[in-house]
Amino acid sequence: MKRLLSRIVIGFIILAAPLVLFSFKPRLILPLIFIWFLPVGLLLLLYIIQPLRRIRQQLLDLTREDLTDPPWKHPYLKEEFLRVFEYTRDLQDRLRREQAEREQIQSILYAIVEGIVATDASGRISFMNPVAENMFGLKPGTAIGKFPREVWREFELAEIFHQVFVTAEPKEREIWLDPPAKRLIKVQLTPIRMEEEGETQGVLAVIRDLTRLRHLETVRSDFVANVSHELRTPLTSIKGFIETLLDGGLSNEESARRFLTIISQETDRLNRLINDLLDLSKLESGRTELNQTRLYLAPLVEEVRQTMDARLAEKRLSFSVELGSVAVWADEDRIREVLVNLIDNAVKYTPEGGSIRIMEIGRGNEQEFIVCDTGFGIPKESLGRIFERFYRVDKARSREMGGTGLGLSIVKHIIERHKGRVWVESELGKGSSFHFTLPKYEERLDKRIEHK
Ligand code: ADP
Repeated sequence: MKRLLSRIVIGFIILAAPLVLFSFKPRLILPLIFIWFLPVGLLLLLYIIQPLRRIRQQLLDLTREDLTDPPWKHPYLKEEFLRVFEYTRDLQDRLRREQAEREQIQSILYAIVEGIVATDASGRISFMNPVAENMFGLKPGTAIGKFPREVWREFELAEIFHQVFVTAEPKEREIWLDPPAKRLIKVQLTPIRMEEEGETQGVLAVIRDLTRLRHLETVRSDFVANVSHELRTPLTSIKGFIETLLDGGLSNEESARRFLTIISQETDRLNRLINDLLDLSKLESGRTELNQTRLYLAPLVEEVRQTMDARLAEKRLSFSVELGSVAVWADEDRIREVLVNLIDNAVKYTPEGGSIRIMEIGRGNEQEFIVCDTGFGIPKESLGRIFERFYRVDKARSREMGGTGLGLSIVKHIIERHKGRVWVESELGKGSSFHFTLPKYEERLDKRIEHK
Protein backbone atom coordinates (compact mmCIF):
# COMPACT_ATOMS: atom_id res chain seq x y z
CA MET A 1 0.00 0.00 0.00
CA LYS A 2 2.74 2.37 1.03
CA ARG A 3 4.74 1.45 -2.07
CA LEU A 4 1.69 2.11 -4.35
CA LEU A 5 1.10 5.50 -2.72
CA SER A 6 4.74 6.51 -3.24
CA ARG A 7 4.57 5.47 -6.91
CA ILE A 8 1.36 7.57 -7.42
CA VAL A 9 3.09 10.56 -5.83
CA ILE A 10 6.14 10.09 -8.09
CA GLY A 11 3.96 9.79 -11.19
CA PHE A 12 1.94 12.83 -10.23
CA ILE A 13 4.98 14.98 -9.63
CA ILE A 14 6.71 13.90 -12.84
CA LEU A 15 3.62 14.50 -14.98
CA ALA A 16 2.20 17.55 -13.25
CA ALA A 17 5.38 19.50 -12.74
CA PRO A 18 6.04 20.69 -16.32
CA LEU A 19 2.35 21.69 -16.70
CA VAL A 20 2.43 23.65 -13.48
CA LEU A 21 5.71 25.30 -14.47
CA PHE A 22 4.39 26.49 -17.79
CA SER A 23 1.09 27.83 -16.40
CA PHE A 24 2.66 30.04 -13.75
CA LYS A 25 4.50 33.29 -14.08
CA PRO A 26 8.19 33.11 -15.07
CA ARG A 27 9.38 34.61 -11.78
CA LEU A 28 7.93 31.61 -9.96
CA ILE A 29 9.89 29.17 -12.12
CA LEU A 30 12.92 28.95 -9.84
CA PRO A 31 11.01 28.27 -6.60
CA LEU A 32 8.83 25.83 -8.53
CA ILE A 33 11.83 23.98 -9.94
CA PHE A 34 13.13 23.76 -6.40
CA ILE A 35 9.80 22.45 -5.14
CA TRP A 36 9.77 19.92 -8.01
CA PHE A 37 13.31 18.70 -7.42
CA LEU A 38 13.03 18.33 -3.71
CA PRO A 39 10.70 15.31 -3.58
CA VAL A 40 12.09 13.85 -6.85
CA GLY A 41 15.64 14.17 -5.50
CA LEU A 42 14.63 12.66 -2.23
CA LEU A 43 13.01 9.71 -3.96
CA LEU A 44 16.00 9.23 -6.26
CA LEU A 45 18.28 9.36 -3.25
CA LEU A 46 16.18 6.75 -1.54
CA TYR A 47 16.24 4.57 -4.63
CA ILE A 48 20.01 4.77 -5.19
CA ILE A 49 21.68 5.44 -1.83
CA GLN A 50 19.69 2.96 0.18
CA PRO A 51 20.64 -0.03 -2.05
CA LEU A 52 24.25 1.20 -2.16
CA ARG A 53 24.34 1.07 1.61
CA ARG A 54 23.06 -2.46 1.51
CA ILE A 55 25.66 -3.39 -1.09
CA ARG A 56 28.38 -2.04 1.13
CA GLN A 57 27.04 -3.98 4.08
CA GLN A 58 26.77 -7.16 2.03
CA LEU A 59 30.25 -6.76 0.65
CA LEU A 60 31.46 -6.38 4.20
CA ASP A 61 29.55 -9.53 5.14
CA LEU A 62 30.89 -11.38 2.13
CA THR A 63 33.03 -13.64 4.19
CA ARG A 64 30.16 -14.67 6.37
CA GLU A 65 27.08 -15.27 4.23
CA ASP A 66 25.81 -15.95 0.75
CA LEU A 67 23.97 -13.25 -1.09
CA THR A 68 20.34 -14.25 -1.17
CA ASP A 69 18.75 -10.82 -1.17
CA PRO A 70 20.02 -8.48 -3.94
CA PRO A 71 19.24 -4.80 -3.19
CA TRP A 72 17.48 -4.20 -6.57
CA LYS A 73 14.48 -6.13 -7.68
CA HIS A 74 14.78 -5.01 -11.31
CA PRO A 75 15.95 -8.10 -13.26
CA TYR A 76 18.72 -6.25 -15.11
CA LEU A 77 20.11 -4.51 -12.02
CA LYS A 78 19.71 -7.68 -10.01
CA GLU A 79 21.64 -9.73 -12.56
CA GLU A 80 24.40 -7.13 -12.89
CA PHE A 81 24.70 -6.90 -9.15
CA LEU A 82 24.92 -10.67 -8.76
CA ARG A 83 27.66 -10.78 -11.42
CA VAL A 84 29.69 -8.12 -9.58
CA PHE A 85 29.07 -9.99 -6.37
CA GLU A 86 30.32 -13.30 -7.83
CA TYR A 87 33.37 -11.61 -9.26
CA THR A 88 34.19 -10.01 -5.91
CA ARG A 89 33.74 -13.32 -4.20
CA ASP A 90 36.12 -15.06 -6.68
CA LEU A 91 38.63 -12.32 -6.12
CA GLN A 92 38.40 -12.75 -2.41
CA ASP A 93 38.80 -16.52 -2.66
CA ARG A 94 41.88 -16.07 -4.80
CA LEU A 95 43.34 -13.59 -2.30
CA ARG A 96 42.65 -15.98 0.53
CA ARG A 97 44.33 -18.86 -1.33
CA GLU A 98 47.35 -16.74 -2.14
CA GLN A 99 47.60 -15.62 1.47
CA ALA A 100 47.46 -19.29 2.63
CA GLU A 101 50.16 -20.26 0.11
CA ARG A 102 52.33 -17.34 1.22
CA GLU A 103 51.91 -18.36 4.86
CA GLN A 104 52.79 -21.97 4.02
CA ILE A 105 55.97 -20.92 2.19
CA GLN A 106 56.87 -18.63 5.09
CA SER A 107 56.42 -21.40 7.63
CA ILE A 108 58.58 -23.74 5.52
CA LEU A 109 61.30 -21.10 5.34
CA TYR A 110 61.02 -20.56 9.08
CA ALA A 111 61.16 -24.29 9.86
CA ILE A 112 64.10 -25.08 7.57
CA VAL A 113 67.39 -25.90 9.35
CA GLU A 114 69.46 -23.81 6.94
CA GLY A 115 69.69 -20.06 7.09
CA ILE A 116 67.73 -18.33 4.29
CA VAL A 117 68.29 -14.73 3.20
CA ALA A 118 66.64 -13.03 0.22
CA THR A 119 67.27 -9.61 -1.30
CA ASP A 120 64.89 -7.73 -3.61
CA ALA A 121 65.44 -5.85 -6.89
CA SER A 122 66.79 -2.82 -5.00
CA GLY A 123 69.42 -5.03 -3.33
CA ARG A 124 67.84 -4.68 0.13
CA ILE A 125 67.21 -7.67 2.39
CA SER A 126 63.56 -8.66 2.06
CA PHE A 127 63.61 -11.91 4.05
CA MET A 128 65.78 -13.57 6.70
CA ASN A 129 64.65 -16.64 8.62
CA PRO A 130 65.37 -17.04 12.37
CA VAL A 131 68.14 -19.62 11.69
CA ALA A 132 70.07 -17.02 9.67
CA GLU A 133 69.40 -14.32 12.29
CA ASN A 134 70.75 -16.66 14.92
CA MET A 135 73.89 -17.52 12.89
CA PHE A 136 74.72 -13.86 12.43
CA GLY A 137 73.70 -12.91 15.98
CA LEU A 138 71.04 -10.45 14.73
CA LYS A 139 67.88 -9.42 16.60
CA PRO A 140 64.66 -10.65 14.87
CA GLY A 141 63.60 -8.45 11.96
CA THR A 142 66.45 -5.93 12.29
CA ALA A 143 68.04 -6.78 8.93
CA ILE A 144 64.88 -6.34 6.84
CA GLY A 145 64.99 -3.36 4.48
CA LYS A 146 68.77 -2.90 4.87
CA PHE A 147 71.53 -3.45 2.34
CA PRO A 148 73.82 -6.47 3.02
CA ARG A 149 76.79 -4.14 3.58
CA GLU A 150 74.82 -2.39 6.38
CA VAL A 151 74.16 -5.72 8.10
CA TRP A 152 77.48 -7.61 7.76
CA ARG A 153 80.94 -6.31 8.45
CA GLU A 154 82.42 -9.06 6.27
CA PHE A 155 83.00 -7.32 2.96
CA GLU A 156 83.13 -10.62 1.07
CA LEU A 157 79.61 -11.55 2.18
CA ALA A 158 78.01 -8.27 1.10
CA GLU A 159 79.98 -8.28 -2.14
CA ILE A 160 78.90 -11.76 -3.19
CA PHE A 161 75.19 -10.75 -3.05
CA HIS A 162 75.99 -7.86 -5.38
CA GLN A 163 77.97 -10.08 -7.77
CA VAL A 164 75.20 -12.67 -8.06
CA PHE A 165 72.65 -9.93 -8.71
CA VAL A 166 74.75 -8.29 -11.44
CA THR A 167 76.03 -11.43 -13.17
CA ALA A 168 72.87 -13.50 -12.54
CA GLU A 169 75.21 -16.47 -11.99
CA PRO A 170 74.86 -18.78 -8.94
CA LYS A 171 77.86 -18.77 -6.59
CA GLU A 172 78.96 -20.47 -3.37
CA ARG A 173 81.64 -19.62 -0.87
CA GLU A 174 82.93 -20.55 2.59
CA ILE A 175 83.36 -17.53 4.83
CA TRP A 176 84.65 -17.14 8.39
CA LEU A 177 82.46 -14.68 10.31
CA ASP A 178 84.29 -12.16 12.47
CA PRO A 179 83.91 -12.33 16.27
CA PRO A 180 81.62 -12.42 18.21
CA ALA A 181 79.81 -14.79 15.76
CA LYS A 182 83.12 -16.53 14.85
CA ARG A 183 81.58 -19.21 12.68
CA LEU A 184 82.47 -20.86 9.42
CA ILE A 185 79.52 -20.60 7.04
CA LYS A 186 78.90 -21.89 3.55
CA VAL A 187 76.79 -19.52 1.45
CA GLN A 188 75.07 -20.70 -1.74
CA LEU A 189 73.54 -17.85 -3.73
CA THR A 190 71.13 -18.05 -6.66
CA PRO A 191 69.59 -15.20 -8.64
CA ILE A 192 65.80 -14.94 -8.29
CA ARG A 193 64.08 -14.81 -11.70
CA MET A 194 60.41 -15.22 -12.60
CA GLU A 195 61.33 -16.92 -15.89
CA GLU A 196 64.50 -18.68 -16.93
CA GLU A 197 65.72 -15.87 -19.16
CA GLY A 198 63.94 -13.09 -17.25
CA GLU A 199 65.42 -10.14 -15.38
CA THR A 200 66.96 -10.76 -11.94
CA GLN A 201 64.46 -9.78 -9.22
CA GLY A 202 66.79 -10.41 -6.30
CA VAL A 203 69.12 -12.98 -4.74
CA LEU A 204 68.35 -16.02 -2.60
CA ALA A 205 71.05 -17.27 -0.23
CA VAL A 206 71.06 -20.64 1.56
CA ILE A 207 73.50 -20.60 4.47
CA ARG A 208 74.92 -23.60 6.34
CA ASP A 209 76.90 -23.47 9.56
CA LEU A 210 80.02 -25.58 9.01
CA THR A 211 81.70 -24.74 12.32
CA ARG A 212 80.71 -27.97 14.07
CA LEU A 213 81.48 -30.10 11.03
CA ARG A 214 84.90 -28.53 10.63
CA HIS A 215 85.52 -28.95 14.37
CA LEU A 216 84.59 -32.65 14.15
CA GLU A 217 86.93 -33.08 11.19
CA THR A 218 89.74 -31.51 13.21
CA VAL A 219 88.90 -33.67 16.25
CA ARG A 220 88.91 -36.78 14.06
CA SER A 221 92.25 -36.03 12.44
CA ASP A 222 93.72 -35.06 15.84
CA PHE A 223 92.43 -38.36 17.19
CA VAL A 224 94.09 -40.37 14.42
CA ALA A 225 97.33 -38.47 15.01
CA ASN A 226 97.06 -39.10 18.77
CA VAL A 227 96.33 -42.82 18.36
CA SER A 228 99.27 -43.24 15.98
CA HIS A 229 101.53 -41.42 18.41
CA GLU A 230 100.29 -43.43 21.40
CA LEU A 231 100.82 -46.70 19.55
CA ARG A 232 104.20 -45.71 18.19
CA THR A 233 105.66 -44.83 21.62
CA PRO A 234 105.50 -48.33 23.18
CA LEU A 235 106.31 -49.96 19.83
CA THR A 236 109.48 -47.88 19.46
CA SER A 237 110.49 -48.79 22.97
CA ILE A 238 109.78 -52.51 22.41
CA LYS A 239 111.72 -52.50 19.13
CA GLY A 240 114.64 -50.65 20.78
CA PHE A 241 114.97 -53.19 23.60
CA ILE A 242 114.65 -56.17 21.25
CA GLU A 243 117.46 -54.74 19.09
CA THR A 244 119.61 -54.22 22.17
CA LEU A 245 118.99 -57.82 23.19
CA LEU A 246 119.85 -59.07 19.71
CA ASP A 247 122.99 -56.93 19.65
CA GLY A 248 124.51 -58.90 22.49
CA GLY A 249 122.29 -57.83 25.40
CA LEU A 250 121.30 -61.48 25.85
CA SER A 251 124.75 -62.36 27.18
CA ASN A 252 124.14 -60.43 30.38
CA GLU A 253 121.28 -62.20 32.10
CA GLU A 254 120.50 -59.40 34.55
CA SER A 255 120.15 -56.68 31.89
CA ALA A 256 118.33 -59.12 29.59
CA ARG A 257 115.75 -59.71 32.36
CA ARG A 258 115.40 -55.93 32.87
CA PHE A 259 114.86 -55.34 29.13
CA LEU A 260 112.34 -58.15 28.89
CA THR A 261 110.43 -56.73 31.88
CA ILE A 262 110.21 -53.35 30.11
CA ILE A 263 109.09 -55.07 26.89
CA SER A 264 106.41 -56.90 28.85
CA GLN A 265 105.22 -53.63 30.49
CA GLU A 266 105.09 -51.86 27.14
CA THR A 267 103.13 -54.76 25.64
CA ASP A 268 100.65 -54.48 28.52
CA ARG A 269 100.34 -50.79 27.82
CA LEU A 270 99.65 -51.48 24.14
CA ASN A 271 97.05 -53.99 25.16
CA ARG A 272 95.36 -51.53 27.54
CA LEU A 273 95.41 -48.82 24.91
CA ILE A 274 93.80 -51.04 22.28
CA ASN A 275 91.18 -52.24 24.76
CA ASP A 276 90.36 -48.67 25.79
CA LEU A 277 90.15 -47.59 22.16
CA LEU A 278 87.79 -50.42 21.28
CA ASP A 279 85.70 -49.68 24.36
CA LEU A 280 85.47 -46.01 23.54
CA SER A 281 84.60 -46.66 19.93
CA LYS A 282 81.81 -49.06 20.96
CA LEU A 283 80.44 -46.51 23.44
CA GLU A 284 80.61 -43.66 20.94
CA SER A 285 78.91 -45.62 18.18
CA GLY A 286 76.04 -46.43 20.57
CA ARG A 287 76.26 -50.09 19.54
CA THR A 288 76.46 -51.35 23.11
CA GLU A 289 73.18 -51.96 24.90
CA LEU A 290 73.03 -51.03 28.57
CA ASN A 291 71.94 -53.84 30.79
CA GLN A 292 70.34 -51.73 33.54
CA THR A 293 69.28 -53.42 36.76
CA ARG A 294 68.79 -52.53 40.44
CA LEU A 295 72.37 -51.86 41.56
CA TYR A 296 74.04 -51.06 44.90
CA LEU A 297 77.42 -49.36 44.63
CA ALA A 298 78.89 -50.32 48.03
CA PRO A 299 79.68 -53.98 47.12
CA LEU A 300 81.08 -52.89 43.75
CA VAL A 301 83.40 -50.36 45.41
CA GLU A 302 84.55 -53.08 47.81
CA GLU A 303 85.29 -55.39 44.86
CA VAL A 304 87.38 -52.69 43.14
CA ARG A 305 89.19 -51.87 46.38
CA GLN A 306 90.29 -55.48 46.79
CA THR A 307 91.94 -55.44 43.33
CA MET A 308 93.93 -52.38 44.42
CA ASP A 309 94.78 -53.49 47.94
CA ALA A 310 98.48 -54.04 47.22
CA ARG A 311 98.91 -50.57 45.66
CA LEU A 312 96.96 -48.89 48.48
CA ALA A 313 99.21 -50.55 51.00
CA GLU A 314 102.36 -49.75 49.04
CA LYS A 315 101.48 -46.03 49.02
CA ARG A 316 100.01 -46.13 52.53
CA LEU A 317 96.76 -44.61 51.28
CA SER A 318 93.71 -44.64 53.53
CA PHE A 319 90.49 -45.71 51.84
CA SER A 320 87.05 -44.96 53.29
CA VAL A 321 83.61 -45.73 51.91
CA GLU A 322 80.54 -43.80 53.07
CA LEU A 323 77.79 -45.35 50.99
CA GLY A 324 74.25 -46.10 52.20
CA SER A 325 71.73 -48.53 50.77
CA VAL A 326 70.24 -46.51 47.96
CA ALA A 327 69.94 -48.53 44.77
CA VAL A 328 70.50 -47.05 41.33
CA TRP A 329 69.28 -48.08 37.90
CA ALA A 330 72.51 -48.95 36.10
CA ASP A 331 74.61 -51.43 34.16
CA GLU A 332 76.83 -53.27 36.67
CA ASP A 333 79.78 -53.96 34.33
CA ARG A 334 79.81 -50.41 33.04
CA ILE A 335 79.65 -48.85 36.50
CA ARG A 336 82.46 -51.15 37.64
CA GLU A 337 84.49 -49.72 34.76
CA VAL A 338 83.68 -46.17 35.96
CA LEU A 339 84.76 -47.00 39.51
CA VAL A 340 87.96 -48.74 38.36
CA ASN A 341 88.95 -45.70 36.29
CA LEU A 342 88.16 -43.12 38.99
CA ILE A 343 89.64 -45.05 41.91
CA ASP A 344 92.68 -46.07 39.84
CA ASN A 345 93.27 -42.38 39.01
CA ALA A 346 92.87 -41.41 42.67
CA VAL A 347 95.51 -44.02 43.60
CA LYS A 348 97.83 -42.99 40.73
CA TYR A 349 97.67 -39.25 41.35
CA THR A 350 97.74 -39.20 45.17
CA PRO A 351 101.16 -39.14 46.83
CA GLU A 352 102.08 -41.50 49.66
CA GLY A 353 100.16 -41.20 52.91
CA GLY A 354 97.13 -39.53 51.29
CA SER A 355 93.51 -40.54 51.55
CA ILE A 356 90.67 -41.57 49.23
CA ARG A 357 86.98 -41.28 50.17
CA ILE A 358 83.89 -42.52 48.36
CA MET A 359 80.69 -40.68 49.28
CA GLU A 360 77.14 -40.14 48.05
CA ILE A 361 74.39 -37.51 48.20
CA GLY A 362 70.71 -38.05 47.34
CA ARG A 363 69.40 -35.52 44.79
CA GLY A 364 65.70 -36.12 44.07
CA ASN A 365 65.42 -38.98 41.63
CA GLU A 366 69.20 -38.99 41.12
CA GLN A 367 72.01 -40.20 43.35
CA GLU A 368 75.32 -38.33 43.27
CA PHE A 369 78.56 -40.25 43.93
CA ILE A 370 81.88 -38.62 44.76
CA VAL A 371 85.41 -40.06 44.50
CA CYS A 372 87.52 -37.73 46.55
CA ASP A 373 91.33 -37.73 46.98
CA THR A 374 94.05 -35.65 48.62
CA GLY A 375 96.31 -35.89 45.54
CA PHE A 376 98.20 -33.51 43.25
CA GLY A 377 95.03 -31.77 42.09
CA ILE A 378 94.33 -30.38 38.63
CA PRO A 379 95.14 -26.84 37.47
CA LYS A 380 92.12 -24.61 36.76
CA GLU A 381 92.90 -24.24 33.04
CA SER A 382 92.79 -28.05 32.59
CA LEU A 383 89.49 -28.66 34.40
CA GLY A 384 87.42 -28.04 31.25
CA ARG A 385 89.47 -30.44 29.13
CA ILE A 386 90.07 -33.29 31.52
CA PHE A 387 87.34 -35.51 29.96
CA GLU A 388 88.72 -35.14 26.42
CA ARG A 389 90.34 -38.15 24.76
CA PHE A 390 94.11 -38.28 25.36
CA TYR A 391 94.12 -35.10 27.44
CA ARG A 392 96.65 -35.35 30.26
CA VAL A 393 97.76 -32.66 32.66
CA ASP A 394 101.23 -34.14 32.94
CA LYS A 395 102.00 -36.44 30.00
CA ALA A 396 105.18 -37.87 31.48
CA ARG A 397 103.58 -38.66 34.84
CA SER A 398 100.53 -40.29 33.20
CA ARG A 399 102.75 -42.48 30.96
CA GLU A 400 104.96 -43.39 33.87
CA MET A 401 101.85 -44.54 35.72
CA GLY A 402 100.81 -46.61 32.71
CA GLY A 403 97.85 -44.39 31.80
CA THR A 404 96.31 -44.33 28.34
CA GLY A 405 94.71 -40.88 28.59
CA LEU A 406 91.34 -42.42 27.72
CA GLY A 407 89.98 -43.40 31.15
CA LEU A 408 88.00 -40.23 31.88
CA SER A 409 86.47 -40.03 28.40
CA ILE A 410 85.24 -43.60 28.88
CA VAL A 411 83.79 -42.59 32.28
CA LYS A 412 82.00 -39.62 30.70
CA HIS A 413 80.48 -41.74 27.94
CA ILE A 414 79.25 -44.40 30.34
CA ILE A 415 77.65 -41.89 32.72
CA GLU A 416 76.03 -39.95 29.90
CA ARG A 417 74.63 -43.18 28.44
CA HIS A 418 72.91 -43.61 31.84
CA LYS A 419 71.53 -40.05 31.45
CA GLY A 420 73.72 -38.91 34.33
CA ARG A 421 76.25 -36.07 34.61
CA VAL A 422 79.93 -36.12 35.47
CA TRP A 423 82.16 -33.28 36.59
CA VAL A 424 85.29 -32.52 38.58
CA GLU A 425 86.25 -30.09 41.32
CA SER A 426 89.89 -29.71 42.19
CA GLU A 427 92.48 -27.53 43.84
CA LEU A 428 96.09 -27.77 42.82
CA GLY A 429 98.19 -29.37 45.56
CA LYS A 430 95.14 -30.19 47.70
CA GLY A 431 93.20 -32.87 45.85
CA SER A 432 90.36 -33.58 43.47
CA SER A 433 86.80 -34.83 43.69
CA PHE A 434 85.12 -36.52 40.75
CA HIS A 435 81.31 -36.41 40.87
CA PHE A 436 78.83 -38.45 38.86
CA THR A 437 75.09 -38.98 39.03
CA LEU A 438 72.96 -42.01 38.24
CA PRO A 439 69.17 -42.44 38.17
CA LYS A 440 67.79 -43.90 41.40
CA TYR A 441 66.19 -47.29 41.14
CA GLU A 442 62.38 -47.21 40.99
CA GLU A 443 60.12 -50.25 40.87
CA ARG A 444 58.38 -49.02 37.72
CA LEU A 445 61.69 -49.15 35.82
CA ASP A 446 61.92 -52.88 36.54
CA LYS A 447 58.28 -53.35 35.52
CA ARG A 448 58.99 -51.69 32.21
CA ILE A 449 61.68 -54.26 31.48
CA GLU A 450 59.34 -57.14 32.45
CA HIS A 451 56.70 -55.90 30.03
CA LYS A 452 59.11 -55.65 27.13
P1 ADP B 1 95.20 -41.39 32.33
O1 ADP B 1 95.23 -42.72 31.73
O2 ADP B 1 96.30 -40.51 31.85
O3 ADP B 1 95.04 -41.39 33.81
P2 ADP B 1 92.53 -40.28 32.31
O4 ADP B 1 91.62 -39.99 31.19
O5 ADP B 1 92.07 -41.25 33.33
O6 ADP B 1 93.89 -40.71 31.66
O7 ADP B 1 92.88 -38.92 33.02
C1 ADP B 1 93.28 -37.82 32.25
C2 ADP B 1 94.21 -36.92 33.03
O8 ADP B 1 93.49 -36.31 34.10
C3 ADP B 1 95.35 -37.64 33.71
O9 ADP B 1 96.44 -37.77 32.83
C4 ADP B 1 95.67 -36.71 34.86
O10 ADP B 1 96.50 -35.67 34.41
C5 ADP B 1 94.32 -36.10 35.21
N1 ADP B 1 93.67 -36.77 36.38
C6 ADP B 1 92.74 -37.73 36.35
N2 ADP B 1 92.36 -38.07 37.59
C7 ADP B 1 93.08 -37.33 38.44
C8 ADP B 1 93.14 -37.20 39.88
N3 ADP B 1 92.39 -37.95 40.68
N4 ADP B 1 94.02 -36.29 40.39
C9 ADP B 1 94.79 -35.54 39.59
N5 ADP B 1 94.77 -35.59 38.24
C10 ADP B 1 93.93 -36.48 37.67
